[in-house]
Amino acid sequence: MMPLYLLIPLALLIPAAFLFGWWTARRAGVRRSGAKVSELSSDYFRGLNYLLNEEQDKAIEVFLKLAEYNRDTVETHLALGNLFRRRGEVDRAIRLHQHLVSRPGLSDAMKTVALLELGEDYMRAGLLDRAEALFADLVAMDAHAPSALRHLIAIYQHERDWHKAIEHARRLEAMTGEDESTVVAQFYCELAEQARHHGAVVEARDYLEQAFACQPDCIRAYLLTGRLLADDGRHAEAVDIYEKAVGTDVSFVPEILPPLLNSYARSGQMERAERFLRELLGRYHGISPVLALTRLYQQRDGERGAIDFLTSQLRQRPSVRGLMALIDATMDKIEGEVRENFLILRDLTRKLLEGQAMYRCNRCGFGAKAHHWQCPTCKSWDTIRSIHGVANE
Ligand SMILES: [Zn+2]
Repeated sequence: MMPLYLLIPLALLIPAAFLFGWWTARRAGVRRSGAKVSELSSDYFRGLNYLLNEEQDKAIEVFLKLAEYNRDTVETHLALGNLFRRRGEVDRAIRLHQHLVSRPGLSDAMKTVALLELGEDYMRAGLLDRAEALFADLVAMDAHAPSALRHLIAIYQHERDWHKAIEHARRLEAMTGEDESTVVAQFYCELAEQARHHGAVVEARDYLEQAFACQPDCIRAYLLTGRLLADDGRHAEAVDIYEKAVGTDVSFVPEILPPLLNSYARSGQMERAERFLRELLGRYHGISPVLALTRLYQQRDGERGAIDFLTSQLRQRPSVRGLMALIDATMDKIEGEVRENFLILRDLTRKLLEGQAMYRCNRCGFGAKAHHWQCPTCKSWDTIRSIHGVANE
């Protein structure tokens, strides 16, 4: 499938190409012979066809030819520049857009479109300082400000300058009326993580308060609050927070259970852990609570109780990770040739799990082994969830 960032320029390109086609046909109809009209129109539609079929080389050839006939046509140059950037020919795109911007007599509207394109070229080329300065100018001029602000926010995220990202997300919110609070909550969580990393606990708590103010059900803020309490040895309070997080969004069980189980153990609340996990089995259908209960029974009652529980659960929710746990629990009990066979089985199961994505972005489909708050591919926030299936969660 085509990545999302390629689809957006295409969506911009086609209307521009259409306008150009209409204009070409109209202008050619006035000034040129009938033969020329049909030649230009057919060239245009041929170019459009190549674009739609993702045959960019051929599309560029056709549009270059059209640009030769119509040296004044800004739209053709914009379409070409966009194509160059999409093909990774960023230097060519930059030269073309710079040339366009410096052209005398260009209308203000077209100039700002060309500047926006140039900014995207700079971003693609990794020239973030130049892109930042250009987008900031566009915002100051109030020209294409929402698009320029979105690009600026992307730059600040890339540079992990969360204060500036928050400031510009707020400006975007004020300008468009669109709610950016869940993204801003993530930015505050990034700041809280940075502060925790530097041992600035009070600062970290302040940022988490801001995150909750933006999004009261922010799971990441719950997790970080629990982590700060656990850092401070306040495991009973951490348990309360983590249980509340599960109650808020059960889909985050794979992320919440490990620190929650640790805090149950550290606060000596293993009976409460068993009650909570048992109750969780009824409303969560992944394998994580089953594996947690298996370990709990293994430690408390020994192998037999753990194996009985696990086999009864695996009949209801078949799972490769469950099978792996069953093989591990059984290994100690067997010897000789059967043990050798079990070793082979364990090895194969491990290999099967190694290749599996455990998480998927529900925006772009990116598959990952570990959870990310921001998708590494489409850069969306809080769109990655665990995959439920026999070989995953
Ligand atoms: Zn994604």
